[in-house]
Amino acid sequence: MKETKSRKRQREKHGRPQNMASASSKIKKSSSDFLDKMRARLSGGHFRMINEKLYTCTGDEALNYFKEDPSLFDMYHTGYQEQMSHWPEQPVNIIIQWLKAHSSSLVVADFGCGDARLAKNVKNKVFSFDLVSNDPSVIACDMSNTPLDASSIDVAVFCLSLMGTNFSSYLEEAHRVLKPSGRLLIAEVKSRFDPNTGGADPKMFSKAISDLGFTSTLKDFSNKMFVLLYFQKKGKENSTRKGIEWPELKPCLYKRR
Ligand code: SAH
Repeated sequence: MKETKSRKRQREKHGRPQNMASASSKIKKSSSDFLDKMRARLSGGHFRMINEKLYTCTGDEALNYFKEDPSLFDMYHTGYQEQMSHWPEQPVNIIIQWLKAHSSSLVVADFGCGDARLAKNVKNKVFSFDLVSNDPSVIACDMSNTPLDASSIDVAVFCLSLMGTNFSSYLEEAHRVLKPSGRLLIAEVKSRFDPNTGGADPKMFSKAISDLGFTSTLKDFSNKMFVLLYFQKKGKENSTRKGIEWPELKPCLYKRR
């Protein structure tokens, strides 16, 4: 049907088709914004759920949890990276700097390596351990039980990875695999060591690690988000392991943003 001249004029005057197009693109944009928001909310929720699970179960249980559904591991790490992007400084970079300032011949074990950023950024030989391996360089295991030989490692790293309720068994494993005088480098979430907010007493934590057979070499509380606690393995075996009083480390739960 032919359009009458007056209707054409009217249409041109009001410019409806153009307005309709922009209105429909606005609707499309706002619904895709809405979907993005919902997706972000859902994945944030999944991250917080998996994070809480990891802080409230043993390493063994966490290993089985991810074995049942390895996709949860990727979900966890997407959320983890999102959280870390709000931290002014990443503790893993401090540890990378430490390694770069020491001999690259030191053999390293990265306990709870995540995406193995540490191994990818240093020249050292690094054994990277995590519950799931998404990279051929990462060995999947519960880090209380690594395949490393006793006294074979120079530096053991725990960067935000003392998550399980049995975290002391991870430190016992580090003690087993470290050579005498080997280094133990721990970076942990600061709030977990703030007794004023239900966190552990850092002195008690250090004392327990000393009783395991280490000497404290550094306590750095200067960063707002994390603490650095470094130790060196004593030469002689310490056999008081059974009587060690470990403080409880409270879970690090993230708030909804
Ligand atoms: N160190 C990395 C990742 C920290 S996230 C970094 O600083 O970027 C903590 C990691 O510890 C997670 O990937 C989690 O899967 C791992 N983890 C926690 N408990 C573990 C266990 N029992 N054995 C092995 N890895 C563990």
